[in-house]
Amino acid sequence: MSADGAAPGAGRHVLVLGGTTEARRLAEALAGEADWRVTTSLAGRVAAPVLPPGDTRIGGFGGAAGLAAWIAAHRVTHLVDATHPFAERMSFNAAEAARLSGVPLLALRRPGWEPAAGDAWTFTDSLAGAAALLPGLGRRVFLTTGRMGLHTFAGLDDTWFLVRSVDPPDGPVPARLEVLLARGPFTLEDERELLARHRIDLLVTKDSGGSATAPKLAAAREAGLPVLVVRRPPVPEGVPEASSVAAALERLRRDGRAPSR
Ligand code: NAP
Repeated sequence: MSADGAAPGAGRHVLVLGGTTEARRLAEALAGEADWRVTTSLAGRVAAPVLPPGDTRIGGFGGAAGLAAWIAAHRVTHLVDATHPFAERMSFNAAEAARLSGVPLLALRRPGWEPAAGDAWTFTDSLAGAAALLPGLGRRVFLTTGRMGLHTFAGLDDTWFLVRSVDPPDGPVPARLEVLLARGPFTLEDERELLARHRIDLLVTKDSGGSATAPKLAAAREAGLPVLVVRRPPVPEGVPEASSVAAALERLRRDGRAPSR
């Protein structure tokens, strides 16, 4: 037995870099399969995360080299980057760690959102870009970009913000702010009611994609509200992608049939 309790050569060990609904769903599916061992890694940003089945570990690895060392020490045979599309640094770390360790990497990336007919979406490349454009677009803003980048909007004193996040914000925040602590998924009815109750005139969102938080876009469309969308950051080149949990599973099962290291 190795230090982590795994019998050498026994089965496949997938390390899922998590923090998304899709990562949890993938771990749930793999945990039910014989001959697969699954460990999910979380950054530790959320105080009480919903833990998937299988093993879990929490906290950074110490960069790409640290991740590569963890992969070697725990006999990981497959690496899946199922982090949020805006977790840019971790995706690049995963690509570099896969290169260093020789373990195959698969990126599970849900497709981005597309505007529908009648949508008034303005795109920007960053939270700073959103903060610069925002005063020209709305006065009562539903800001759904997460608590981590909230300081970027802290100087906008003439704007009222409704911010929704899982944990309370820390650090500098906008002066006129109401915080709603909630964890998705959210329904269209929830979002419709929220926009009306707070007399929202602008929705600000990252292009996170996926269905769990998409109803806010439908509610904004219904209400004729403009939407300010932060585009996704770049991803490392040459990493195979799956756009759904089912596609990722199929790929892992296929790769898993080949002899592992
Ligand atoms: P990031 O900027 O790409 O990563 C910063 C550092 O956090 C990484 O270098 C790594 O530290 C650590 N880290 C990130 N994801 C990790 C994981 N799954 N397991 C272990 N360590 C991890 O990431 P972020 O944008 O702060 O996001 C952090 C986590 O929140 C991610 O797991 C992501 O899936 C989730 N999340 C992010 C967003 C978002 O909008 N960014 C939204 C929802 C959920 P070391 O270098 O020390 O390894």
